[in-house]
Amino acid sequence: MVSPALPPLREVIARHGLSASKALGQNFLFDEKLLDRIAAIPGDLAGRNVLEIGPGPGGLTRALLRAGARVTAIERDPRCLPALAEVSEAFPARLTVIEGDALTIDPAGLFDAPYDIVANLPYNVGTALFIGWLSGENWPPQWRSLTLMFQQEVAQRIVARPGNGTYGRLAVLAQWRSQAHLAMKVHRSAFTPPPKVMSAIVHVTPGTMPEHVSARMLERITEAAFGQRRKMLRQSLKSLNGAVEALTTLGIDPQRRAETLSVDEFIAIARQLSR
Ligand code: SAM
Repeated sequence: MVSPALPPLREVIARHGLSASKALGQNFLFDEKLLDRIAAIPGDLAGRNVLEIGPGPGGLTRALLRAGARVTAIERDPRCLPALAEVSEAFPARLTVIEGDALTIDPAGLFDAPYDIVANLPYNVGTALFIGWLSGENWPPQWRSLTLMFQQEVAQRIVARPGNGTYGRLAVLAQWRSQAHLAMKVHRSAFTPPPKVMSAIVHVTPGTMPEHVSARMLERITEAAFGQRRKMLRQSLKSLNGAVEALTTLGIDPQRRAETLSVDEFIAIARQLSR
C-alpha cells in the first residue's frame, strides 16, 4: 500500500510540544520498521477494523493504517489530538480518534463487525484492560485478536506454563479458552524515553470455550489456588465449597500446589464445581 507522506514522528512531537508524560505512561516508538513489524503481528489487516488504545502521537497508528486497517483509536491525552488529526487527514476516512479513558469506554458500542485490538499501553492500564477482555461468560468475544505490549515480566506471566514460578492466574485466564504467545521482544532502547525494563508483545486469539464451565467459577478457583500459591491445594481450596472433594473425584492429588496444575486440570475442577 502506498503511504502518504507524513512528517517524521520526532518532528511532530517537537512541533506539538508532546513531552512524554510519566503519569500517562508515555514511552513512544519512532522506528517505522519496528512499528510495521508490530502491525504485522495480527496478520493481514487490509480492510479490517482495528481498535488501538493509546495511539499517542500516532507511530503505531500510522503503521496500522499503512497495513490497510481502518483504525478507531482511544487516547486519553488531549495534547496528542492535533498530531492524530494530521494522520487522519493523510488517511481519509480511515482513522477515528476518540478522546477518553479506555478503561471507561465499551468497545462494543464502537464496532458492528469483529475487530482486532492493538495497544502499547502503560502497564497498569494494559493489564486491567487485558483482564477485562478475557473475562466474562460470553465467548467468543467480539475481538478477533489482541496484540499488546507489556513489560517483559508480565508477558512471561501471561504465556507461562505450569511448573514455572511465573505461572499463575494471568496464565490460566489467558490460556483456558484462548491461545496466547509471545510474539516479539522489544528492547527498552526502542522507546523514547526508554522505560526501566524490557518489553514484549503478546498475541492472543480466542479459542473454543470448554463446555459446561462457568468463567466465574474458574476465576474463583484460580483466585483461591494462587492466592495461597505456596500452600497445598487441600488448604488453599478449602474455602470453596466442594473443591477438595472435586480434586479426589478427578484424581488430582490434594497435596499438589496450584502452580503444578495444568490449565486443563483447572478447567476440570471448574467443570466439576459448575455442575
Ligand atoms: N502508541 C504510541 C506509541 O507506541 O508510540 C504511544 C504509546 S505510550 C506507551 C501509551 C499511550 O497510552 C500514551 O499516549 C498515553 O497517553 C495513552 N494512555 C494512557 N492511559 C490511557 C487510558 N487509560 N486510555 C487511553 N489512552 C491512555
